[in-house]
Amino acid sequence: MTTTETTPPAASTGAGDYDAVIVGGGFAGMYMLHKMRQLGFTSRVIEAGSDVGGTWYWNRYPGARCDIESLSYQYSFDDSIQQEWNWSERYATQPEILEYARFVADRFDLRSGMQFDTRVTAASYDEASARWNVDTDQGDHYTGRFLIAATGCLSVPRLPDFEGLDSFEGDWYHTGDWPHEGVDFTGKRVGVVGTGSSGIQSIPRIAEQAAAVTVFQRTPNFSVPAHNAPLTPEQRDENKQVFQKLRREAETMIPARAGGPTVIPKAFDLDDDARTERYQKMWDMGGVMFMASCADLLVNKDANDTAAGFVREKIHEIVSDEKVADLLSPHDHPLGTKRLCVDTGYYDTYNNENVSLVDIRNAPIEEITANGIRTADADYEFDTLVFATGFDAMTGALLNMNIQGRDGLRLNDVWEEGPRTYLGLQVVGLPNLFTITAPGSPSVLSNMLISIEQHVDWISDCLEYMRERDLGTIEATPDAQDAWVQHVNEVGDSTLYPQADCWYTGANIQGKPRVFMPYVAGVGPYRQKCDEVASAGYEGFALAKEPAAAAR
Ligand SMILES: Cc1cc2nc3c(=O)[nH]c(=O)nc-3n(C[C@H](O)[C@H](O)[C@H](O)COP(=O)(O)OP(=O)(O)OC[C@H]3O[C@@H](n4cnc5c(N)ncnc54)[C@H](O)[C@@H]3O)c2cc1C
Repeated sequence: MTTTETTPPAASTGAGDYDAVIVGGGFAGMYMLHKMRQLGFTSRVIEAGSDVGGTWYWNRYPGARCDIESLSYQYSFDDSIQQEWNWSERYATQPEILEYARFVADRFDLRSGMQFDTRVTAASYDEASARWNVDTDQGDHYTGRFLIAATGCLSVPRLPDFEGLDSFEGDWYHTGDWPHEGVDFTGKRVGVVGTGSSGIQSIPRIAEQAAAVTVFQRTPNFSVPAHNAPLTPEQRDENKQVFQKLRREAETMIPARAGGPTVIPKAFDLDDDARTERYQKMWDMGGVMFMASCADLLVNKDANDTAAGFVREKIHEIVSDEKVADLLSPHDHPLGTKRLCVDTGYYDTYNNENVSLVDIRNAPIEEITANGIRTADADYEFDTLVFATGFDAMTGALLNMNIQGRDGLRLNDVWEEGPRTYLGLQVVGLPNLFTITAPGSPSVLSNMLISIEQHVDWISDCLEYMRERDLGTIEATPDAQDAWVQHVNEVGDSTLYPQADCWYTGANIQGKPRVFMPYVAGVGPYRQKCDEVASAGYEGFALAKEPAAAAR
């Protein structure tokens, strides 16, 4: 393994041989590149988009924002970043978060280590040289001792297989791949398919412009108000003083659902009035912290029912048409077991004359026609269609890379029955391949910036450890992976999460194996486990000297 930064290979694309090939230039790939440089490993990021930012580069739909508060949704690895950067709102918009990613890229000159407009199409492990061969859609060929997949959990937009889409004569868009120049909906009749987070964020903004918006809903989702507001200079300054301390606390947090020490009451510790008062207080505060109203909302269905009932009542208070309110009220999953949405004016939008709701649970979409959408019981005409139909979450980007490990082992075959990982960091049979925020880690159930930094730091420490000991390969062992998968499932099954059919379980995609993918015990216990594994000499991983053929 090389120990010092070498001159990047001469080819203008940056194609060549590296210590680490990193796929993805979102927050994970950006920080990974920075760490590799700091440690003196040669590396190159390959990114399909034309710039940094990942999620925030692609999801440019109107209303796109983070739903973790901006003051928390930022890097902590270099204090000067948060000291200098000033968020303007409680929940930052997509353009502002993208601007932040660009600010970080400029600060650390990250773009010079990145290959943009290039998609990895295949990656295979060559056992003789102990190197990953990486091919791209630009015809480039990279090799790397390590392959690091920073490919994102929500980076493969999913478009249902609607018959007739090609025949539609208007324009259509997917929220996860939005045109950079924006879309003018003025005077248009717009059909929006999907009422997950992207739909809930975009529908009110589209309705402000469009002549008419018709929303096609298969499953209603719970949404709580954001109560977004500008941040004052005082709030920002105060955060700059305490940010690192708060982040360290957040990194070690044990959530109430996992038995963490908590002063939060359980739902039935409170009488009906006190409980409702508490829900109202959290509702007024806004945001996903509503789930922290009571400690047992994600483990006790009866407790959950009380909070879900509260939100359904709110929907009925806000939406004046009783039938529409009924349709918008979820009954098929416990509150919070699908990603809880955070909105600005979502339910109110349905009081507008120009917005209507169509239930496609009972009358499904049959086809897209030249003029619009045909459901089982009606035809609708549109100028523009918006598909807010989500992503092939957590596994989609990894499976799209055509990864082949030892002995030609295909990741797509290994994961045929669902993803299996050791700690969400490695997969048996794929030596020296690391995954960031993959299934089996807290990932999408956490503030992703916390999980990304933790994974990048852990992988970097591991590579240093190997370099110091002249080790060439690391691979998860089958026993460790089996035990981890079993543990992840057991912890998941002790909560209400697996009860929901959604992208956490792959149920949003026909034919995708139904496996609850994230690790729900929280970032604190997870970090502790990863640290213990590392302290014990990377317990559960097989480490070996590099094969002679691989020595440079
Ligand atoms: C609309 C939306 C809102 C969100 N809000 C929040 C929030 O409030 N809080 C939160 O914690 N998380 C949120 N998330 C999750 C968000 O994805 C993460 O917070 C974070 O941005 C992920 O960073 P990443 O680098 O891991 O992945 P991404 O940002 O997804 O970046 C992955 C990159 O890999 C590239 N890539 C993938 N495959 C290939 C390939 N084969 N070849 C080349 N390039 C490839 C993609 O183009 C992409 O740019 C949100 C997600 C979405 C979609």
